[in-house]
Amino acid sequence: MAGMLYLVPTPIGNLGDISTRCREVLAQADFIAAEDTRVTLKLLNHLQLRKNLVSYYEHNKAQRGDVILERILSGETCALVSDAGSPAISDPGEDLVRQCAQAGITVTAIPGPCAVITALSVSGQATGRFCFEGFLSMSKKSRRAHLASLKEEKRTMIFYEAPHKLQNTLLDLQETFGPERPISLCRELTKLHEEIIRTTIGGAIAHYEVQPPKGEYVLVVAGAPEQPESQSTPADAAAMVAQLMEQGMSRKDAVRQTAKALNLPKNAVYDAALDCPSDSNAQ
Ligand code: SAM
Repeated sequence: MAGMLYLVPTPIGNLGDISTRCREVLAQADFIAAEDTRVTLKLLNHLQLRKNLVSYYEHNKAQRGDVILERILSGETCALVSDAGSPAISDPGEDLVRQCAQAGITVTAIPGPCAVITALSVSGQATGRFCFEGFLSMSKKSRRAHLASLKEEKRTMIFYEAPHKLQNTLLDLQETFGPERPISLCRELTKLHEEIIRTTIGGAIAHYEVQPPKGEYVLVVAGAPEQPESQSTPADAAAMVAQLMEQGMSRKDAVRQTAKALNLPKNAVYDAALDCPSDSNAQ
């Protein structure tokens, strides 16, 4: 009979956050697959457990995944842990879960510490709809492309960031979202020096110019504000288009400018302006 895979979340700072169930699963698993066995050994010592450990990390996961799969298929139960937080979330695990699922192995995730959810809940930003964006790439080109794809994003956006890259990331965020966009910087969550700074992107840049960033960060950035609904009527739009065309503007440009000025959809302005006398440059 095949064994199974447990995804076991571990504390992101405060060791008291390990749950009774996580401890039980770690105690009962036949072996533990760990991102860094030295980090996991410290946790196991704290829990007074002695276990068989294998490493499973970014650079050995292709080959090691097959070995782990074999062991599970032969009937062993594996508990997967990362250095901190939930395995498979910006951490190794995603591939192993897929491999096991494809092989028909039962995979169970135990709920528990996760930096993205801890930060979102304490951020003070809208939590109804959010998107997790992980780490921004080190390459300038892909960072720019990633951020450009979020320019119109209305949901709250969450990023992981390391302290030495924070100031550059804030500058990139400012370039995309502007200095006034609200941001919550959640630092050292669950640790002694936990700090939540709720400010704007510009405010955060000014803050870290005098106070060098330290520790681990989750950035929670407000989504783009909803556009207020236009108060203008089709008659207003038609009048503005007519006026612009009288001044010599083409119909196409007059429709575009009116739509922008009155915050109306272009096709609605176009329909409203159909009765305007045609212009010589109409397109
Ligand atoms: N799988 C983990 C999770 O979801 O909780 C995240 C692992 S990822 C490699 C590490 C990143 O998570 C850090 O660079 C930081 O952005 C965030 N993080 C982890 N622990 C944190 C903490 N205590 N306070 C703030 N951010 C933390």
